[in-house]
Amino acid sequence: MKRLSLTAALAAVSLLSTPALAQQADTHNHAGEAQLAQTEVKRAITEIAPNLYRFQNNFHYSVFLVTDDGVIATDPINADAATWLEAEIKSRFNQEIKYLVLSHDHADHSSGGEVWADTAVVVAHANAKPVIAGEKRPTAMPNITFEDALDIELGGQTVELRYVGRNHSDNMIVMNFPAQRALFAVDFIPVGGVAFRDFPDAYLPDWNESLRRVEAMDFDILVPGHGRLGDKASVTAFREYMDDLWTEVVAAVRAGKSVEQAQADIKLPKYEKWFRYEEFLPLNIAGAYRQFSAHSRRN
Ligand SMILES: [Zn+2]
Repeated sequence: MKRLSLTAALAAVSLLSTPALAQQADTHNHAGEAQLAQTEVKRAITEIAPNLYRFQNNFHYSVFLVTDDGVIATDPINADAATWLEAEIKSRFNQEIKYLVLSHDHADHSSGGEVWADTAVVVAHANAKPVIAGEKRPTAMPNITFEDALDIELGGQTVELRYVGRNHSDNMIVMNFPAQRALFAVDFIPVGGVAFRDFPDAYLPDWNESLRRVEAMDFDILVPGHGRLGDKASVTAFREYMDDLWTEVVAAVRAGKSVEQAQADIKLPKYEKWFRYEEFLPLNIAGAYRQFSAHSRRN
């Protein structure tokens, strides 16, 4: 297990000195207000547990941990959101963002990291860096990457970063805040909903295995990147959905059904009250059908 303290991280990357930070934060604040008025973006900061806050930007959420030595922030979401949040952190807590941890490379969560790059060490999974570079994601390049596990300690507090395998991407990490008993997990554990569309950039059935690994972790509050908070039972419920979906789709492919036939036949009524069941179940079936077909061979 790698452990990272800010001293070590600072030695690993060169940070710019920040003499103009107070002034810059003030400018950011006004820019954030202007943006909010212009587009009516819904932004909010809510305390989830001591020192741990959830940041909302419309339908996207991330978290940040406030310590005496600075803030560990996660997905910036986009440049305007990052600018707003940096100013809020400065005015509410009089702190700078010392770490930015990216949940995964997808642009709708990772964008805007460059706004914090003057004060923050950027951390991501090893698989994220080549994608961020290759796709030219509008964010900061990671300074530090890891394969399996990395603990970050700042101001006497800790966040445990863990890779739980491939799921909604091949570079998704979960962030466990042990003192807060909260786990931040983005996009691969919808709380009370089916999966997003037809599983873009997804790995099935590895995804189900990664959910089992999360179920084995020690936490009480599940903090997703979209929607309401959950708990350990939310993970189990979604894993059961994924298991049921996979079982049904595999049976349909092996029975020689077309994707349209599979969509017509598979209903999974146990989940019919879940968010976006009507809209996304047929797409979930098509995505799982495509993935199983790509990694199996008929007689
Ligand atoms: Zn994503």
